[in-house]
Formats: sequence, structure tokens, C-alpha cells
Amino acid sequence: MASVLRKNALISLLLIALMLVIVAGLEAESIGDAGSDLLREILRDEAVERINQLAKISDADGYLERTFLSLASRKAAEPIIKWMQDAGLRTWVDQMGNIHGRIESVNRTEETLLIGSHYDTVVDAGRFDGSLGIISAISALKVLKISGKLLKLKRPVEIIAFSDEEGVRFQSTFLGSAAIAGQLPASVLKTSDKNGVTIQDVLKANSFEGTDGSLLQVKYDPESVWGYVEVHIEQGPVLESLGYPLGIVKGIAGQTRLKVKVTGSQGHAGTVPMLMRQDSLTAAAELIVNLESLCKYPDRVFTCNEQCGCYSKESFSGLVNFTVDVRAMDDEAREIVVSEFSRQIYQICDNRMVNCTIERKHNAEAVHCDSELSRQLKQAAHSTMKMLGKNIREVPILMSGAGHDAMAMSHLTKVGMVFVRCRGGISHSPDEYVMDDDVWAAGLVLLNFLDQQVIDDHMSS
Ligand SMILES: [Zn+2]
Repeated sequence: MASVLRKNALISLLLIALMLVIVAGLEAESIGDAGSDLLREILRDEAVERINQLAKISDADGYLERTFLSLASRKAAEPIIKWMQDAGLRTWVDQMGNIHGRIESVNRTEETLLIGSHYDTVVDAGRFDGSLGIISAISALKVLKISGKLLKLKRPVEIIAFSDEEGVRFQSTFLGSAAIAGQLPASVLKTSDKNGVTIQDVLKANSFEGTDGSLLQVKYDPESVWGYVEVHIEQGPVLESLGYPLGIVKGIAGQTRLKVKVTGSQGHAGTVPMLMRQDSLTAAAELIVNLESLCKYPDRVFTCNEQCGCYSKESFSGLVNFTVDVRAMDDEAREIVVSEFSRQIYQICDNRMVNCTIERKHNAEAVHCDSELSRQLKQAAHSTMKMLGKNIREVPILMSGAGHDAMAMSHLTKVGMVFVRCRGGISHSPDEYVMDDDVWAAGLVLLNFLDQQVIDDHMSS
């Protein structure tokens, strides 16, 4: 009897081992089935071609400029819609000009995964800011379509190309994503550009309703959304300095913008003794250097833009205005820097016999990316590095110092972001550049993420 039991146990163990081998085999097959030539062709060559094609659609001659619902912006919507349809997506444009491409899942009631970035640009922009995120997402879904995996989605997937992130025309960032996240008040419709044209005027001129009600229609129900993922160029030099094509974003820094005015007394550069001067420029210089030392920690940055009221080279300065921009991942740490800076300002100005005023112009809290979503994106980045034959032990985790659509979308759902290396960390410039192979990595990381988290290989199609 005992030997029969032992035999049965052994058979069970062998069966379990066999099943594990089969499951491992299925996982190993993964998206490699699509063939590496096909992956390269769609995720790299075609994606680069599309990025270049989109960069040619501009409101300006000789440089790239595509602002909210401008002529070029409306023109750029055409190929984006065509590419989304080519990837098997159902498309529509919402009442704020955001372009949507969606594929349903068999589980129609499941929450939707949103993937997006923006198709507006700054003035004299680069080719990749915004476009890379949209096009790599479309390419990833196209690969899933070709490999027959779109039929195995566990949940609906929707790509959104946002109409405004840069805020160039109306100085109001995230018009597109904030509307979807329900963060845009109806009063924004009355905001006007430098020519007195309002957002409402622009919407109506483009055949949108431009009413409070139509703005509400754009808003998504948080219950219907699972999460938001965005791929974006880093816009900084960290990945390049580390030699990594991809990085995972842990969050978007919070920001405080201050306006500082230092008033002294202008005087002759040669005749007023040093100890009797009320030199606002040297006072401002000391303040700025002090602020620099307060920000010498990882995940804290500051920038100063200066405007000096003294124009004669024979004088020292009587008035300096400057703005301070402090950004940090930790909101409490940012507040400490701001209050410590404010304390030092009065002390330093007192010592130097000048007056100063500080005004807080802007305050935004940090956005933390979802840890589980970030872990999944990191896993996808690892798989990507493996597929590209790169021996990388740890994918870098970065802070984003710049705002992104993910910031607005975090009010709607959990967010995750991937950064892609760009040459010299340059962005918002025609010199912005992402290597073709890194465009490939951007598409692959989304493809791997979708394959690992949203595709159910055991689902019958
Ligand atoms: Zn951007």
C-alpha cells in the first residue's frame, strides 16, 4: 500500500514538473513570436518615419510649432487617426481636440488602460517631445494586432493623443489631459491668447461646441479607468550619462515659483565705498548662491531667472527682480527649502542694507507614480534590454523635473511613466534627438508591458 502511495506521489510530482516546463515555455515564447525583423520594422523604422512625418506638420516655416488647435495641429490629427486605425483601433476626437484610439476587450466591463502623450509642441520644438509617446504606443498595438494578440486583451486599451500639454498659446498647460481628468474648470473657456481670441472661440472655429456641457463630456469616470502609462523623452542628461536607453520615473517633482524683488540704491561704481553700498545685485547674488546650497541634494533643483534694473556700466545696481523655481520630489523638503530661503533672504538683505519682497506665484504638489505600475514597467524595461541584447542589471529610477500629462492624469487614476534617453538631455529645441534604436526601445517597452500585463495568452480568441 505504502509503495502505491509513493508511486502516485512520484507521478503527481512529475506531472507538476511537466506543467511548470510547459508554462515556462509559453512565457518564454511571449512576443518573440512576432519575429525580431517585424518588431524592428514596426517599432523602430516605421516609428522613426512617422515621428519625422509628424515633425513636418508645422504652423511655421522652417521650424516646428504646433499649438492648441492651430491649423497644423488639426492637420497633424489626420495621420495620427490613420495610424491608430492601421493598428486596429476605433478612433474619435473629443470636444477638446484630444484624439482617441481604442480597442475593446472580451471583458467589456473591465477598466481601461490609457496610454498617451501630447501632439502639441513648443515654438521651435524638437521632433520627439510628445510624438514619441503617441507613436510608440500606436506601434506597440500594431504589433499586437499583427500577432493576433489584440483578441486576447484582458481589458480595453486606449491611446490618447492630447491636444495641449505645452500651454504655449493660452499659457494654460494640460488643457487636453486636464479635461479628461476632470480638472479643467469651465471658466478656462474664457481664457484668451495674446490676440484676445478665447479657448471657446478656437473650439467653435474648429467645429467643437465649446460649452460647459461639452467640456464635461470629455471627462472620464475614474471607475472606468485602470491606469495611465506615458512614454516620454527624458528632457535631461541622466540616462545618457548612465548609458541607459530607458528609465522608470518615480514621480514628477512638485514646484514652487517665487518672485523676489531686491531694492537697494544705485550708485557710482567708483566713488561709493564698499561698506556703504546698497547694491541689490550683489545681495541677489548672495541669495542665489545660498539657495543653491539648500538645493544640493538629490531630487531637488532650482532655477533663477534674473532681471536687473541697472543699465549703466558705471554704476552698481539699485534694483534686481528675479524668479526662483524650486522643484523637489518631496513636498515637505520643498517647503523647508522655501521657508529657509525666505528666512535667509531677510537676514541677507538686512546685512546688506537693501529691501526685499517675496511673492509666491505658483505652487504644485509632487505626483508619485504608482509603485506596482512602476514595477511592471520596470519588468517590461528589463525584457526590452534583454531583447536588444543589452546586459543591464538595474533599470534606473528617475525623478521628472518637468511636468507631463501624467501629472493631470494622476487626478483620474494611477500613473506610470518611462523615460527615453535623448542626446545631451536637450529638448524644446530642434537639436532634440533620440537614436533610432532608442525609439525601438520605447516601442518595445510598451509592447512588453502590454504583453506581460494586459494580454491573456490562455484566452481563446
Ligand atoms: Zn512633452
